[in-house]
Amino acid sequence: MEDGRYVYSCRQDDSIIPDNLPEGYKGVVNLWFRREVERACCDDVLVLDSYREQRVFSKVENMEMVLGSGLSLSTRVTLPRRIEDLITEKLLSFANSMLKNPKNTDKKALPIAVEVVVRTLQGSMENEQEAIARSFTESAEAVLTDFLQAIIEEDHPEEDYQEALEHVSAVRSKFKAVEYITVPDSYLGKHCMFCNDKFSKGVFVARMPVCSHVYHGDCFLGVLVLGESCRICLAS
Ligand SMILES: [Zn+2]
Ligand SMILES: [Zn+2]
Repeated sequence: MEDGRYVYSCRQDDSIIPDNLPEGYKGVVNLWFRREVERACCDDVLVLDSYREQRVFSKVENMEMVLGSGLSLSTRVTLPRRIEDLITEKLLSFANSMLKNPKNTDKKALPIAVEVVVRTLQGSMENEQEAIARSFTESAEAVLTDFLQAIIEEDHPEEDYQEALEHVSAVRSKFKAVEYITVPDSYLGKHCMFCNDKFSKGVFVARMPVCSHVYHGDCFLGVLVLGESCRICLAS
């Protein structure tokens, strides 16, 4: 399924069912996200990040609530609201079809792999670092636009909008100063201070301009949008 720059798909992947499912649970959805950037100049895609996330629901009727509660609230994928809604819709109908499939009746876990490809780049892009930086900056732009749009739609007073506008422009300029690198060895096995996931080898991370601490690319955006300083050293 495609929508402009975004291509997303859901599929069943039994290999992601955890072998240590908790006692007494009723249902578990295992989501596996992969975020990639497709380069216009070549056939290969660059995998920016890939991670798993587990959501527990107490009965089937609750599944919709659990899956529909907003992907980016608890995941690392920062996507424009419009795209997030489309993916949630697709995810729900896919989960429902999995539940109805007799093949899955004994399963208490729904192993769903969600893949999101972000087609960021136009023309030739020889420099990988530049490609990564552009992908993150573009996704930040989309999120900031959504943020302002939400303020307008929720009918806030004019002063709120002005304040939000200033906040967005501050975030935007900080985001431009960030450096994107492959996670340094010294961070392997450590947890990202925003999402609490461990950094896995080869993942692309954002390095804070002031203190050089690193976060996942999208987590860094989260820190900035919330108006926070570095969670490790409090530098801003
Ligand atoms: Zn993170
Ligand atoms: Zn820091």
